[in-house]
Amino acid sequence: MFDILFVGGGLAASLSAYLLRQKIPSLKVLVLEARGRSDFPKQTWSFQTLPKAIDPSPGKSFTAPSASWFGPLIAKSWPSYDVEFPSFQKSFSVPYHSMRSETFHSGVDEIAGSCFRFRCRVTKISDKSVELESGEILKARVVLDSRGWPADAGASGYQKFVGLTLKLARPHTLTSPILMDCVTPQLDGYRFFYTLPWSDREVLIEDTRYSNTPDLDQTVMEQEILDYATRKGFKVESITGREHGSLALPGYDQERGDFPKGALGVRAGFYHPTTGYSVYEAVQTAELIAEHALHNLESIPKRLKDLADERWRSQEFYRRLNNMLFYAAEPSERYRILERFYEHDADLIARFYAGKTSLGDKVKIMSGRPPIAMQKAIYHFFNRTQSVREVNHA
Ligand SMILES: Cc1cc2nc3c(=O)[nH]c(=O)nc-3n(C[C@H](O)[C@H](O)[C@H](O)COP(=O)(O)OP(=O)(O)OC[C@H]3O[C@@H](n4cnc5c(N)ncnc54)[C@H](O)[C@@H]3O)c2cc1C
Repeated sequence: MFDILFVGGGLAASLSAYLLRQKIPSLKVLVLEARGRSDFPKQTWSFQTLPKAIDPSPGKSFTAPSASWFGPLIAKSWPSYDVEFPSFQKSFSVPYHSMRSETFHSGVDEIAGSCFRFRCRVTKISDKSVELESGEILKARVVLDSRGWPADAGASGYQKFVGLTLKLARPHTLTSPILMDCVTPQLDGYRFFYTLPWSDREVLIEDTRYSNTPDLDQTVMEQEILDYATRKGFKVESITGREHGSLALPGYDQERGDFPKGALGVRAGFYHPTTGYSVYEAVQTAELIAEHALHNLESIPKRLKDLADERWRSQEFYRRLNNMLFYAAEPSERYRILERFYEHDADLIARFYAGKTSLGDKVKIMSGRPPIAMQKAIYHFFNRTQSVREVNHA
């Protein structure tokens, strides 16, 4: 009998197990993961430092992430980040951090490796037990379902990307990540390049698109990345890593997903509706689980469900924005919405990424003439149906 059993050993469960092993080593924790450790695809999880007032984690860990309990899992931090649009370039003096799957997994395994069982696909989940593909049944006081994005996740659109880690023949001159370089042809929706300078001779470049479809042509996009690298003056020696993803972003027209008690991670809707990112939420829920694991273990599934329900309500603004982005804006014009967004100050942008957009922020984001067709923008922000889009696309 285990105390707490996670089904799925991705970002959310790994962070929770990592924290639980450190805070309550006596707790019997089990993480069942369908893949083998060496089968995990390469992945990079990034986030920025947050002001205390909007930090969603109970321990305020995002005010100084490097000094926090998950600090050892951060591969690289930079003091600032940049964005580049056709009409301006801007640098934000806000620290930016990235975790890389290779070092993330070795860091997690060092502390919590004994909690993991790999190549264990779970076929049935109930409140207190799970059944494995092999027929084995395992029991726990609490079972948490952290199996990642459900296959049927509905979407108004997709944030999709292909990334290449490039080894360079000579050092580059970048000092900060470029979060969005959208001075580039607008293909397949809002399109930008994202660059993380890991070291003076190693960069990750992602070709990212806010698109109406999840499809990725990896070969073509990889070539686009190499062409971009050449345009930027990088001399590529070799490709040392590949990653890709297609994150389903919910719209205002979408029904509320069914987040059962005990769901965790993106499975429970713990991600930002407009960016698809989930590091803030994964840390927040890890801290919530650790806080209650010692004295209120059995209350955890209900607490997670309450948080998921509250989030669904409080994140409606972002789902409305997604409607506007994906239904109202012509794909080639979408960048104008983001261009205008990044004219705002760093605090508003941090609140947006933390999912803590204030009423004042909402007014600022929505005020003025929309940078896209007014009638469609207003229609899709306030309506659940896609009828204007259908009429206009007919
Ligand atoms: C390539 C990529 C890059 C991303 N970059 C960022 C980023 O920079 N910042 C950010 O905040 N977010 C990012 N995201 C979004 C989000 O943070 C990630 O998707 C994150 O990994 C979600 O965490 P999770 O634990 O909920 O699910 P996952 O990490 O997807 O973990 C789910 C796990 O469950 C396992 N599983 C599934 N079914 C079973 C089963 N039946 N039995 C046992 N195990 C099972 C899977 O194998 C998987 O390992 C990115 C996503 C992708 C795909």
